Amino acid sequence: MAIPLLRGIWWFIKGMGVLFVRVFALLKGLRLTLAMFFSRPVTIQYPERKREVSPRWRGVHYFERNERGDTRCVACGLCVAICPSQCIRLVAVELDNGERYPEFYEINTVRCIYCGMCAEACPVDAIKLGRNYEFVDYQREALVLDKGRLLANAPEPMNQRSI
Ligand code: SF4
Ligand code: SF4
Repeated sequence: MAIPLLRGIWWFIKGMGVLFVRVFALLKGLRLTLAMFFSRPVTIQYPERKREVSPRWRGVHYFERNERGDTRCVACGLCVAICPSQCIRLVAVELDNGERYPEFYEINTVRCIYCGMCAEACPVDAIKLGRNYEFVDYQREALVLDKGRLLANAPEPMNQRSI
């Protein structure tokens, strides 16, 4: 008679212990939920709101323009030589006035690792990496930047920033 009674008491105490542990864990979770509910959100409603990127951000490339409104590039080929991904293609021509000019210039951003070395190497600050990070597409061809697109990517003078 005494043994079943003791066993019952033991199971009751054990059950209460398990219940206490689970309720405690639940309350702990709820406390965290409540704390997060009243704290400032860390998420932003992208794309309606956009996060400001770091000053050292390396985004999509662009060409700086010269006083004639054309690319500042003098087709020296240094960016092509230094690019670790070998994703820059350049065909240089010499103009009548003796200046070198990029007849064809293309960056395949599918292969680009956004290291910024092309911008570092450029002696005339022609190629730069901008702030834009919204650059996606379903077609690889659309991710190739030619001269026209590089010129069009240049930021407005007021917002102009570079690495
Ligand atoms: S950022 Fe780097 S990988 Fe991309 S084109 Fe420039 S040098 Fe090449
Ligand atoms: S972008 Fe700069 S480094 Fe590259 S070819 Fe033109 S001038 Fe030379």
